Amino acid sequence: MTMYYNACPKCRGTVMRRDDDFGAYLQCVSCSRIIELAQPNAGGQSRPKLAQKKAA
Ligand SMILES: [Zn+2]
Repeated sequence: MTMYYNACPKCRGTVMRRDDDFGAYLQCVSCSRIIELAQPNAGGQSRPKLAQKKAA
């Protein structure tokens, strides 16, 4: 697990790199602030919709 010390813009705390199905992000261990990383597919579709509309 990658950690960045004094990297939180809010409290200067330590942030950890985390990954989920949608990509990587940073989260502060002190204040739980989420810092989104730039998506590799910027300009395209970001997070998929949970439910798709059915075509009538
Ligand atoms: Zn923080």
